[in-house]
Amino acid sequence: MLDPSPQYTGYTAYEFLEPGTDIKEFRYARQIGRVPPYAGLELSTEQQQRTTRLLTEETVISLHEHVQVFPEDMGQLRDHIRQGREPTAYEGLSRSGLTAVFDNGMDGTCCISSDAGWKYQDVLFDLGVRMADLAHQQYVIKGETLADIEHAKQSGKIAHIFALEAATPIENEVDRLDVLYGFGVRQMGIAYSEANTLGSGLKERGDGGLTYFGDRAVQRMNKLGIAIDVSHSGDRTALETIERSTKPVFITHAGARSVWPTNRMKPDEVIKACADRGGVIGLEAAPHTTLSPDHPRHTIESVMDHFVYCVDLVGIEHVSFGPDTLFGDHVGLHTAFAGNLSISQAHGHVDHETVEYVDGLENPAECFYNIIGWLVAHDYSDDEIRAVVGGNTLRVLEEVWV
Ligand SMILES: [Zn+2]
Repeated sequence: MLDPSPQYTGYTAYEFLEPGTDIKEFRYARQIGRVPPYAGLELSTEQQQRTTRLLTEETVISLHEHVQVFPEDMGQLRDHIRQGREPTAYEGLSRSGLTAVFDNGMDGTCCISSDAGWKYQDVLFDLGVRMADLAHQQYVIKGETLADIEHAKQSGKIAHIFALEAATPIENEVDRLDVLYGFGVRQMGIAYSEANTLGSGLKERGDGGLTYFGDRAVQRMNKLGIAIDVSHSGDRTALETIERSTKPVFITHAGARSVWPTNRMKPDEVIKACADRGGVIGLEAAPHTTLSPDHPRHTIESVMDHFVYCVDLVGIEHVSFGPDTLFGDHVGLHTAFAGNLSISQAHGHVDHETVEYVDGLENPAECFYNIIGWLVAHDYSDDEIRAVVGGNTLRVLEEVWV
């Protein structure tokens, strides 16, 4: 983890509102130091310096994250979520070294007016209040173009790019994609675990592929310049999306099913199809997802087993990282939202140890220091590291963000 960016001046989320009067007050998890720092890298002084240099000098982009901080007491989670004011973790981000981050907001937990979630009005509310908060400070800027990412790099700020894990909130209205683009959404999934009007999610018994409406939505996303993500889509839906899209498609946060056999991981066929069309897979690190037979206790080492496998399968130019972390108890979030997120169907019933957190990839503040540190410790070149922490993603965005 880096020292705080000098560009960060201490702003905390929604500080323009009065707790108790305008919003309910919650006690939030610590953004820094909630868990002990990762001790597994064992870098020499020279390697530490190289890691810090790469993290500060390169354009570092996370393909998938949730940059909010969650309540310390996860028993308050539903109450907190119903308020629809998830706080961006500015302090934590100031230690991350990120140039740009795809933030997926409330997403599968977007339950402001409905316990089932994914309602269009709720998603707009979430996007709107998060933007109002961003507008009250200068350190985290709204990222909508490549120029915004470049500006963040040059000025030592962070470009915050809105993304949605699924297109479920558009229902049968393709024009809602234009509205969401207008709000700043620049990346969107097809379906989450459950099927929707576009296609099938990864938990369904059968996968009918991309629907005719899904075709129209993919075409509209191509025209608007919304990057497409098939991380949570069923296999056939993912393949057909990649085939029908005129632009490369991302798998922003997943792993390889050949390494760990659950629905949440992608089969070789999907990873190869994504790469063949110029796309990129970002490696996932949410608790109990990207495990491996060599590292069945989930840590950065298990995630890197998926990284090595994917690099062997499709080449390093098609691999990146979307660690999918947040500030707070991610395992507690999974427990509280097990039904909404279809956790048991996604994670399957493959024997593994349970952990309280993923050591080395626990939150957005530490992810990329530890990823780069791991790559440095394993003798990857500067060019290779530059590609997997941001370069590959930029190449796809140059094609997609019209
Ligand atoms: Zn996800």
